[in-house]
Amino acid sequence: MPTPFEHAMHQLARAHAVHAFPEAFLTVLKHPKRQIRVAIPVKMDDGTLSVFEGYRVQYNNARGPFKGGIRYHQDTDIEEVKALAFWMALKCAVVNIPMGGGKGGVTVNPKELSKRELEELSRGWVRSLYEVIGPQKDVPAPDVNTTPEIMAWMSDEFGKLTGDTSGAVITGKPIANGGSEGRGTATAQGGFYVFEALREKLGLPASCSVVIQGFGNAGEHAAELWVKAGHKIVGLSDSKGAIVNEAGLDPQVVLAHKKANGSVAGFPGARTITNDELLALPCDLLIPAALENQIRADNVATIQAKAILELANGPTTPEADDALFARGIQVVPDILANAGGVTVSTFEWEQNLRGEHWSEADVFAKLKTIMDREANEIFTKAAGLKTDLRRAAFILALERIRQAMGM
Ligand code: NAD
Repeated sequence: MPTPFEHAMHQLARAHAVHAFPEAFLTVLKHPKRQIRVAIPVKMDDGTLSVFEGYRVQYNNARGPFKGGIRYHQDTDIEEVKALAFWMALKCAVVNIPMGGGKGGVTVNPKELSKRELEELSRGWVRSLYEVIGPQKDVPAPDVNTTPEIMAWMSDEFGKLTGDTSGAVITGKPIANGGSEGRGTATAQGGFYVFEALREKLGLPASCSVVIQGFGNAGEHAAELWVKAGHKIVGLSDSKGAIVNEAGLDPQVVLAHKKANGSVAGFPGARTITNDELLALPCDLLIPAALENQIRADNVATIQAKAILELANGPTTPEADDALFARGIQVVPDILANAGGVTVSTFEWEQNLRGEHWSEADVFAKLKTIMDREANEIFTKAAGLKTDLRRAAFILALERIRQAMGM
């Protein structure tokens, strides 16, 4: 299977085929500005020493400081982080915020660490990288398996090492540590604003049946938002299994089951199915909200959704994009659909720099304006170019980055 970075470069080539960019610009964009690998020693609770591999990829900062989350996952490696950093550069350009693209990670299964070990690892990540991050250099944030509490440890460690206690070095912090109102739900909220802006244009009904893959930060909040707006969640999943109920699932009740049992699987009142079966369920809207490479050449034919909205990064491979486009199934791409997270992260950075604290209503009003504007712009561009929404979003972002680079 191609690596996520190969997949990202294939997407770049697809966009270039529709709207040609200068070769010199593309050559620069195919290489991250800086890739850093660090070894992070952690004294384990049993007295032994473990060394974890950590990463920061600073892809492009033409439009502002590098910006992007830190992923803790046993399968994360520099190739994955590189792809995620590339997508961040494009995503920040899509929503036109003054940020470049970066991403970080640690190869670790955080569920196997105690809280003390996790704190030491997180502080160690900052000790290894504090010289290259900072409010005007590179502003990390949460991603898969990294929480507001981890962001607070990291912000605290950076303050101790540098004396900069503004908190603007890292976003996604708890409110008490300088976090922004609305950051926890921002990714799902931004995706929901995009959905509302495009629903009719995508030919979707006023009340949709929705399937969500992944029931973490992005997926769980999405389930709640869509239900609150009168849509029906018919399928949900996490890494351990999937559930389906055509009559509709109540996300809060499923969450209580997941908290008690460690998974949505086995939820009473729903049939437990596999994640492959979940993706193939008939529905109006499929929301991948887990990991990359979920909709691929080998399973794309099974997709029965009328439209897909990507809250996860990179869930659809370029081969699957081609097949979906040929079948008329619109994919609202990650770099637009999940950009609410980085947008509110940027609001957090702005509030920290100015010593302000905005209300949730202000945060969401600003977020909605941005998501509506860029969703409509991308839809119009795609229609004009007779292409898919991903290529239109890439073209919009690439034009903005190229202008900032003066190329
Ligand atoms: P999370 O760790 O909170 O949740 C991930 C969820 O996916 C969990 O429920 C996990 O069980 C599930 N999962 C993992 N592997 C799976 C599999 N093979 N099949 C089904 N489910 C699986 O992470 P998150 O923050 O919700 O991030 C999810 C996705 O959204 C990632 O691609 C991330 O990069 C993207 N994203 C998140 C944010 C954010 O603000 N949290 C912002 C932008 C993009």
